[in-house]
Amino acid sequence: MKDTILIVEDEQRLADLHRDYLHKSGYATECIDDGTAVVQWVKKNEPALILLDLMLPGKDGLEICKEIRSFSSVPIIMVTARIEEIDRLLGLELGADDYICKPFSPREVMARVKAVLRRTAGTVLNSEILNLDAERYIATLQGRKLDLTAVEFQLLCILAKQPGRIFTRDQLMDRIYTDQRIVCDRTIDSHIKKLRKKISTVAPELEIIRSVYGVGYKYESP
Ligand code: CA
Repeated sequence: MKDTILIVEDEQRLADLHRDYLHKSGYATECIDDGTAVVQWVKKNEPALILLDLMLPGKDGLEICKEIRSFSSVPIIMVTARIEEIDRLLGLELGADDYICKPFSPREVMARVKAVLRRTAGTVLNSEILNLDAERYIATLQGRKLDLTAVEFQLLCILAKQPGRIFTRDQLMDRIYTDQRIVCDRTIDSHIKKLRKKISTVAPELEIIRSVYGVGYKYESP
């Protein structure tokens, strides 16, 4: 599956420019030109990175960035029309990963996108109790290492990246088995069962992976 970069930009010409260059570098893209539609989209999909324009109709980039950070650690590059704005943005500590000023060269944007993706690739999650290092496939819970298989690690990443979101077995299978091989629902159940067992060995009092009867699974922050 290709990484999808979400382009949030209301100037069609700039959105097209971003899109063309990203496609050339092998990324898939999605463009949204209305500020009010962004958060919903990010909740339903999993972009690898977001290029977020500051001035947008409906809802501005500041607000969008804050809202996204309340549930996701997806890399965000803010795009602003004024260079002097960047100092103010940095001061606000929005949680954006980088800033680009207009007018930009597409080459600069690509360099920033790649740099941010490289920087954020290693760690998927770093919270007080759970740390997931995707580069080395290491999961630690309350400072203790979880001895997980690759599939268990992936499952934990998917669930923990969006706490509270319920994933159906189908959704989990789609994300794990990208090669379309046929697996039955029970496969996921059995991986989850083993994963929970390993978690409870390390931290018996933590029930971070919950089953939602008849629907699927979710991660709950303790
Ligand atoms: Ca704009």
